[in-house]
Amino acid sequence: MPIAHKIKDFIEHSSWIRKMFEEGLLLKQQYGAENVFDFTLGNPTMEPPEELHTELRRIAEHPIPGMHRYMNNAGYEETRAAIAEAIMERCSATLTANHLVMTCGAGAALNVVLKTILNPGDEVLILAPYFVEYNFYIDNHGGVPVEVMTDAHFQPDLDAIASAITNRTRAIIINSPNNPTGVIYPAALLKQLGELLARKEQELGTTILAISDEPYAHISFGEEVPCIFDCIKNSLIVTSHSKDLALPGERIGYLAASPNLTAVGMFMQGAIFANRVLGFVNAPALMQRLVTNLQHCRVDIEKYRYKRDLLYNKLVELGFEVVKPGGGFYLFPKSPLADEMEFIRKAQEYKILLVPGSGFGGPGYFRIAYCIDDDVIERSLPHWEKLAAEVGMTAK
Ligand code: PLP
Repeated sequence: MPIAHKIKDFIEHSSWIRKMFEEGLLLKQQYGAENVFDFTLGNPTMEPPEELHTELRRIAEHPIPGMHRYMNNAGYEETRAAIAEAIMERCSATLTANHLVMTCGAGAALNVVLKTILNPGDEVLILAPYFVEYNFYIDNHGGVPVEVMTDAHFQPDLDAIASAITNRTRAIIINSPNNPTGVIYPAALLKQLGELLARKEQELGTTILAISDEPYAHISFGEEVPCIFDCIKNSLIVTSHSKDLALPGERIGYLAASPNLTAVGMFMQGAIFANRVLGFVNAPALMQRLVTNLQHCRVDIEKYRYKRDLLYNKLVELGFEVVKPGGGFYLFPKSPLADEMEFIRKAQEYKILLVPGSGFGGPGYFRIAYCIDDDVIERSLPHWEKLAAEVGMTAK
């Protein structure tokens, strides 16, 4: 069966992570998995917290009649209310269950939002480097992604954003802590962005939605992750428990609309409808029940801090230029060779698997996903040393 030209093209040109992962599998077959240091996938090897298993057992031992049936497409009211309460601890907005839709992860939440707001040809700003799926999600709903470069510290560049806004701009996606850079955007900058968006909305007679994609919001090493609702009026959170509870395979997330969003009631109706007709119908019932009482539970962030420090300190010592991440579980160093693909190939010779920055709209850099076992990171360090020496780096 022939597939659509566009999908064929997307598969061929746009899946660097998958490509590098597959090349890694070949290396693992050749040299043994224990001899290959795979930093390609943002798929945490950390297990979920023990409380999750206790809660899962409690639910299984006390089944509620009808707990596996269809439900309101927005999800269980009890779950949405518990999440609304948890969000209110981070912000000054007043939220209720009616501001939330439970979704099959942050990926589904993004698709639901984009389907709800985009007319064909509408533009969505994405801040480079970015999570590459944004391009496909925007395309799914007839939109046009518009890349805007961040500054030298990977923070949003307000002048560049102002220049990119047109009367077709319907939304901007913000991702902090960021994949692939790990940087966190400060409240003052987000407030300035809010002012800029409000000014542009007024000038153009449009509404521009700030979509805060924040699956790493609870993986911060001390810096505050500001609540978007306190910074930008027309804003929305999309997120999941893929990272903070280490549940990516369970597909449980949500979208939450700011109560101050223009025509918020209409937006919520649209989002609930979109959740249904995209075929998600509703987020997994059992997972909704599970996360209801786990809103204050997280994986051990100190374990991520240990991994970050181990790699960051070694990279700096070897002379790599790298912005210190404030959260998430990624590093995005500058490639020491002008052609980052050449560097990635060299790294493979030392059995280190990386993803080129081009795959994230950040050519000249490479991404390290360090959500892997400490032991793999530790054993990789001598290989990083040899790699750095081979490309002529001078240790500090
Ligand atoms: N947004 C970002 C920035 C991500 O890094 C990811 C996953 O890696 C997602 C969204 C999708 O997350 P989920 O598993 O909740 O769909």
